[in-house]
Amino acid sequence: MGHLDQIEGIQRNVALAKLTTFQMGGPADYFYEVKDVMEVPMLIEAAQKDGLPFILLGWGSNVIFSDNGFRGLIIHNLARKIEKDDDLVVTDSGTLLSQIIQFCLKNGLTGMEKMMGLPGTIGGAVRGNAGAFGLETKHIFEKALIYKEGEGVREVGYDYLDFDYRHSKIKETHEIVLKVWLKLKPGDTAAGVAEVRQIITSRAGKHPSGKSAGSFFKNPSGNSVGQGLSAGLLNDQCGFKGKHIGGAFISEKHGNFLMNDGTATMENVLDLCLQIQKAVFEKFQVKLEREVALVGEHGYIEDTFSKKND
Ligand SMILES: Cc1cc2nc3c(=O)[nH]c(=O)nc-3n(C[C@H](O)[C@H](O)[C@H](O)COP(=O)(O)OP(=O)(O)OC[C@H]3O[C@@H](n4cnc5c(N)ncnc54)[C@H](O)[C@@H]3O)c2cc1C
Repeated sequence: MGHLDQIEGIQRNVALAKLTTFQMGGPADYFYEVKDVMEVPMLIEAAQKDGLPFILLGWGSNVIFSDNGFRGLIIHNLARKIEKDDDLVVTDSGTLLSQIIQFCLKNGLTGMEKMMGLPGTIGGAVRGNAGAFGLETKHIFEKALIYKEGEGVREVGYDYLDFDYRHSKIKETHEIVLKVWLKLKPGDTAAGVAEVRQIITSRAGKHPSGKSAGSFFKNPSGNSVGQGLSAGLLNDQCGFKGKHIGGAFISEKHGNFLMNDGTATMENVLDLCLQIQKAVFEKFQVKLEREVALVGEHGYIEDTFSKKND
């Protein structure tokens, strides 16, 4: 019997499809729902002792799991405690952005309204420096409590995260965000509520409905041809709008939304991803980088395209 088997509340063979917005994913060998964020280190240590990979799952809006499932531990982050400390909001990493915005507006704080409708947890948002309408997570980030295998739990500030467009250091180190301190401003909450309504309407017109993980590629930058162009536009110009491979396809409404018609497999997703990357590279000499995390049976699938073309 392994260390994970001895943990009360651990579940076996839990289907992952319903836990992500892409709605694909076979069973996780081990699965645990965390309500107290400080349980995370103990779970990771148990997985390590058993020699198994682990992944912390937030709202599942930026990750695609293999249809073959995951041969390790998925920790589902449902830790959502939230409190106010003057102008700071202190929250567990599993709290949804929409819950934080509502909490702020109820407590006289403003500054996060532009993120309404952006799916996901604050932990996921810190990892990818998620943002919308010009507001990025880094703009409201004060500090975080993080966990690193072998190093334990510690507090880190803004500089440590090395934020960039849809990027933080956590993406490379795979450290875990446990708690986050956000700095907001006392303000006109009636105006905040009005802005939230307007943002919701604006987002509804832009994004396709259906099974997706949001924008699939990062928008390229710093390239003479791709500069100013979005990944969606580049994909469109290579003729990918509406293109299907098996159950995976590119939305007709948004050229950077890779969707699942309900029958997609990881092979379909990878084939479509690679075809787009190759075509865009050949036509524009732009290397599209994935924004969405892909998880195979034994862990993250790294970006094979860049390695092949370097
Ligand atoms: C319809 C739609 C619209 C979207 N619009 C936007 C948008 O406007 N702007 C934008 O930036 N993004 C957008 N996204 C992408 C997504 O919402 C963000 O990337 C979000 O921050 C992901 O958070 P999550 O909790 O869902 O992360 P998950 O999908 O659960 O996880 C994604 C990755 O982050 C890791 N992770 C999750 N929590 C933690 C943690 N606490 N510590 C360390 N690592 C963690 C996971 O292990 C995984 O590798 C959109 C997605 C969809 C489906």
